[in-house]
Amino acid sequence: MSYLARSLRNAFLLILGAKLLCTVTAAAAWETVRHKGQEYVTARSIKEFYGFQSMQVKGPFLELENRAVKIQFSIGGQEVFMNNVKFVFSFKILPLKGRYLISRIDLGKLVDPVLRPSYIRTATPFDTVIIDPGHGGNDPGAVNQYGLEANYNLAVARVLKQQLEARRFKVIMTRNSDRALSLSERVDIANRFQNAIFISIHFNSGGRGRAEGIETFTLSPAGVAHYGRERRQDDFQLRQGNTQDSANIALATAIHSTCLLKTKRPDRGIRRARFSVLTGVKHPAILLEGGFMSHSYEAKLIANATYQRTLAGAITDAIMKYRMATMRR
Ligand SMILES: [Zn+2]
Repeated sequence: MSYLARSLRNAFLLILGAKLLCTVTAAAAWETVRHKGQEYVTARSIKEFYGFQSMQVKGPFLELENRAVKIQFSIGGQEVFMNNVKFVFSFKILPLKGRYLISRIDLGKLVDPVLRPSYIRTATPFDTVIIDPGHGGNDPGAVNQYGLEANYNLAVARVLKQQLEARRFKVIMTRNSDRALSLSERVDIANRFQNAIFISIHFNSGGRGRAEGIETFTLSPAGVAHYGRERRQDDFQLRQGNTQDSANIALATAIHSTCLLKTKRPDRGIRRARFSVLTGVKHPAILLEGGFMSHSYEAKLIANATYQRTLAGAITDAIMKYRMATMRR
């Protein structure tokens, strides 16, 4: 294996759970294409830059692979698997005249920070974790026959707080009781602190009882819509949270992949959103949906203290991984 491939493996696996990190050095010209007002790079130049050994079409996917990293781009779609973890890209992967095009936004704001977390300039050392249990008080969030989302969010948050304090983090809770708190109040609390990351905890509902699994949201970069809706003019504005674009996706990757690993729940992907806690918070921030209260099996899991502890443990492990991956210089 080449030095580059080995380095790349180490960098990538670090954020997904390995231990070593070397520095990637590569110089290659990007082959860029402008298509319908959007900038793209070719898959071939991604292959060259990151030192992938092979590129081939397998069924619906274009695969880039070396011994350590496999990226599967769904051709004509937005779903991409990086070492089997699902990411929902902001733009479709386009086949065009024998080439495969990946948007520059997805390359710069997603692929690169995930493959090279130690290159994230804004990922400054942090000693504080702000935990935001979603909903509360007169806003229960999702409700099922076992209980209220607001209470489950708080239960997971409290276990997480204990675990992080045992690892000497300073922990701030936006709420530590069943009280109502507006979204802007949560942002204001978070932004009073420095050297922090922000984790918002939620559980999902919907999908007529069939939807299940874990999804992780992180802020849309400028020019990218909120998940599931059309792009609007104000999506082009840079928001406070966009100062952390690279760190956001790296943190999301660490948390999402570790939660999947520990809970064994289905992977609904890492998605882009414009929830106001994500737009407003100045720290690296993610919003976790830790399962579906509307799904018969997951409803029971979510109500169970063992599952709550597993989820909190996964988040704790992920924070340690994220710190290691981004802090190596
Ligand atoms: Zn919620």
